[in-house]
Amino acid sequence: MSDCIFCKIIKGEIPSTNVYKDEFVTAFRDINPAAPTHILIVPNKHIDSVNMLIPDDEPLIGKMFSIAKQLANKEGIAESGYRLIVNTGEEAGQTVFHIHLHLLGGRTMRALG
Ligand code: AMP
Ligand code: ZN
Repeated sequence: MSDCIFCKIIKGEIPSTNVYKDEFVTAFRDINPAAPTHILIVPNKHIDSVNMLIPDDEPLIGKMFSIAKQLANKEGIAESGYRLIVNTGEEAGQTVFHIHLHLLGGRTMRALG
C-alpha cells in the first residue's frame, strides 16, 4: 500500500517514535495522544480494517495483544489499567485504514458510549 501512512512508518519512510518492532508487528507513539500513554500497535502487513481480516491473520492479531500487554507493563500502566481500542469504519472514527490497536492509559477513562 504505497499511499498508506502506517506502511510508510513501518518502512521508515516517515519518522515516528518507535517503541517496538519485530518481523510481524511495529508499535509507535500516537502523534496526537489522547492519554499520557497512547501507543499504536500495527501489523507490518497492510490490512485495511477488522472487516478485511482472514482466518490466517488470527496469530497476528493474538501477537498484537501480547505486545500490548508487554508495552502496558513497560509503561507502568498494567496495574492501574489501560484501554485497547480498534476503531473499524468511519462511524467508529477510523481515520487510518491500516488496522491498529490503540493502547491508552495513564489517566482515568470515561465510560464508553
Ligand atoms: P484511528 O482514528 O483509530 O484510525 O486512529 C488513527 C490514529 O493515528 C490517530 O489517533 C492519529 O493521531 C494517529 N496518527 C496519524 N498519523 C500519525 C503519524 N504520522 N504518527 C503517529 N500517529 C499518527
Ligand atoms: Zn498500510
